[in-house]
Amino acid sequence: MQSEHTPSASQSKPKRSARTAKSKQQNWTLDDFVVPEEEGKLRFHDLDLPDEVMQGVQAQGYQYCSPIQALALPESLQGMDITGKAQTGSGKTAAFLISIITDLLDYPIQGPRRLGTPRALIVAPTRELVMQIASDADQLTRFTDVQVRQLVGGMDFEVQQKQLQKTHVDILVATPGRLLDFCRRGHVNLRETEVLVLDEADRMLSMGFIPDVRAIVRQTPKKQDRQTLLFSATFSEQILRLAEQWTFEPVHIEIEPENVAADTVEQHFLSVSSFDKYRVLLNSLKAANFERAIVFANRRHVTRELAERLQRDGVSSALLSGEVAQQKRVKTLERFRSGETPVMVATDVAGRGIHVDGVSHVYNYDLPEELEDYVHRIGRTGRAGASGVAISFASEDDAFLLPDLEQLLGKAITCEPVPEELLQG
Ligand code: AMP
Repeated sequence: MQSEHTPSASQSKPKRSARTAKSKQQNWTLDDFVVPEEEGKLRFHDLDLPDEVMQGVQAQGYQYCSPIQALALPESLQGMDITGKAQTGSGKTAAFLISIITDLLDYPIQGPRRLGTPRALIVAPTRELVMQIASDADQLTRFTDVQVRQLVGGMDFEVQQKQLQKTHVDILVATPGRLLDFCRRGHVNLRETEVLVLDEADRMLSMGFIPDVRAIVRQTPKKQDRQTLLFSATFSEQILRLAEQWTFEPVHIEIEPENVAADTVEQHFLSVSSFDKYRVLLNSLKAANFERAIVFANRRHVTRELAERLQRDGVSSALLSGEVAQQKRVKTLERFRSGETPVMVATDVAGRGIHVDGVSHVYNYDLPEELEDYVHRIGRTGRAGASGVAISFASEDDAFLLPDLEQLLGKAITCEPVPEELLQG
């Protein structure tokens, strides 16, 4: 493997004021970021983060730590391993990224760096999620020299390889399969991984990635010699066992379900016969004053038909499912983000990666077969404190799932009849 030289740095933890941060060059000081103390809330200011990180936090528009950040950051910044029960929408991505970036800046590496040898590795189940994490990392590191790279399947192998050969990598974000591929070919070496993040562990399990993840973890230093942060929306027996194997004396944190994004979502359930579903969806979309809407269905062919029919019926919509080529998915997401295509029809796996603010409506054209997906689906709206509406169709084919869903949500579900005007046409 080739080597690259970086400026030598002090081996001991440097004084923050002594660092030649990019932020300093731009005359930014912490005084430019004022957040008043507030009872019961932790400020990022209270965590003694490097100025460059604080500048990134400010640029992201964050003021106070989200509940998961307030629990995780004080521990992870001390170097503790963490097992965290947290859903999408909780702010867990920023929690682990801020901890990693702070660590990288506080303990700079002296001397040459081997190419393809990350200091922090983040493994996540889907391409969209990896891309979202890498994009958040790019944002949060923009006032630092920290190098972020991503490896995902379905994208040009050579382009990703070339990027790894250009400069060293500090934070590598990857899906399991593609990462292993790179490791096998010798383009990536995980022996010097200081921090390992396993995100959405439950999803990696349900997608059958655990053997791959196991192979990845084996290539990193042993658990006593690395920091491991494992996040999962659920902690089944299996996840608990994996967490036990992969983490060292972890601190377990979880936030109460009422703190997740879903709480800001108004949830409706409509009793709709499967015959009327499409008409109700179309009328509802036309009647709703929505900013952006995501329509979830369980099967790929259903999502494809829905996207085509909506488009034909004058509702500008795009498809996001596993059958869409990766390059196209990226463009589709960009158009959704920009508001050009305000409706996205998605399957669960693809939909997991949609981290777009301003999604006002989520439709469950079918109830999800894996009930936990319900929480993930509606978590696409009501993000970052905004409010959202989730409308779920319960038909004769899937209404039987409602009692279990009630149990999962811990509250009764009332199915409303379809308003007459939505059945017209
Ligand atoms: P995540 O759970 O990581 O998908 O994050 C959910 C959303 O919350 C993202 O849009 C983040 O940018 C946003 N977010 C994360 N931390 C904070 C914070 N402390 N304050 C406000 N928004 C945040």
